[in-house]
Amino acid sequence: MEASENCCVKVAVHIRPLIGDERLQGCKECVTVTNGKPQIQIGTHSFTFDHVYGSNGAPSSSMFEECIAPLVDGLFQGYNATVLAYGQTGSGKTYTMGTGSKDGCQKGLIPQVMNALFNKIELLKHQTEFHLHVSFIEILKEEVRDLLDSVSVNKVETPNGHAGKVTTPGRQLIQIRETSNGAITLAGSTEVSVSTLQEMASCLEQGSLSRATGSTNMNNQSSRSHAIFTITLEQMRKINSVFPGNDTLDEDMGEEYFCAKLHLVDLAGSERAKRTGSDGLRLKEGIHINRGLLALGNVISALGDEKKRKEGLHVPYRDSKLTRLLQDSLGGNSKTVMIACISPADINAEESLNTLKYANRAR
Ligand code: ADP
Ligand code: MG
Repeated sequence: MEASENCCVKVAVHIRPLIGDERLQGCKECVTVTNGKPQIQIGTHSFTFDHVYGSNGAPSSSMFEECIAPLVDGLFQGYNATVLAYGQTGSGKTYTMGTGSKDGCQKGLIPQVMNALFNKIELLKHQTEFHLHVSFIEILKEEVRDLLDSVSVNKVETPNGHAGKVTTPGRQLIQIRETSNGAITLAGSTEVSVSTLQEMASCLEQGSLSRATGSTNMNNQSSRSHAIFTITLEQMRKINSVFPGNDTLDEDMGEEYFCAKLHLVDLAGSERAKRTGSDGLRLKEGIHINRGLLALGNVISALGDEKKRKEGLHVPYRDSKLTRLLQDSLGGNSKTVMIACISPADINAEESLNTLKYANRAR
């Protein structure tokens, strides 16, 4: 199967290198990549994706340029977008996204998004007024929690509000709401208005620290939650300076307003509950997490199926909090990139294969 150009969901695979534990256990690599092609083999299975990135280190600048930069550009044109990091616990999701509280923070995709965003704003700010705000939430056991509620500066009351300090009460549950024009909003979440790269980076860092983690028998730092860092970009521009090549200079045309958001999602571990299970509580979390991942798989496979889409197929957004929250940023005019993270180690072959099968459904 060839990778399709105009599919609404692009899929990239990121294979991390063998890490300490795997080396200590004497693991062998069980994944091969066809030279020069986005093709990956594991056992007797072979898959083709839009991109496959190899096992030599941090998210390369080519991953950012090829997969993510077009989404940042789309934001400036008013298109919502979503980046999803999928994979078993320990496969490199947090490292790839940069939502970790240590190593990933500097090298991951989110810091690269921030750089690109502020560089572009710098270039355009003479003709356009920009407002940026961020939220950072997690979904754990089908409950939405705020990761920025202890951030003390520049909170705004509504998604469209501007600077202004507001004191928020202690940790509260967040409700997902849909406005009459189909936009999804988070009632009760902290929106932080940011005007510099440093302010935005500090939100990422503080939210990452606040993220709930639980220990499992696979990885004692493993997170059982979906973490969603959302950047909203509002633009106000003089209409006669908007489009290059548009030479209508009608003063009365006034200003144009655009608002778009980019969700950067570090999904919960995709391993089955049986591999994590020791106590009942953890198993319960596992089941809930699977509900979000299951619904996400169903939504993106429905979106990727052009034929079914034309027949007006029902897209099951309402089946989980995760898909509900991402509803206005998956499908339609939105761009979606899934990064399937895998370990190359033979002991993880079964989960890596599951990840590739899941990612393959998205195409
Ligand atoms: P996940 O979030 O999927 O559970 P992590 O991002 O925490 O996985 O990665 C697990 C471990 O592997 C961490 O110690 C991380 O530093 C390391 N790691 C992940 N990806 C890479 C990579 N591309 N290069 C080097 N080390 C990596
Ligand atoms: Mg993680």
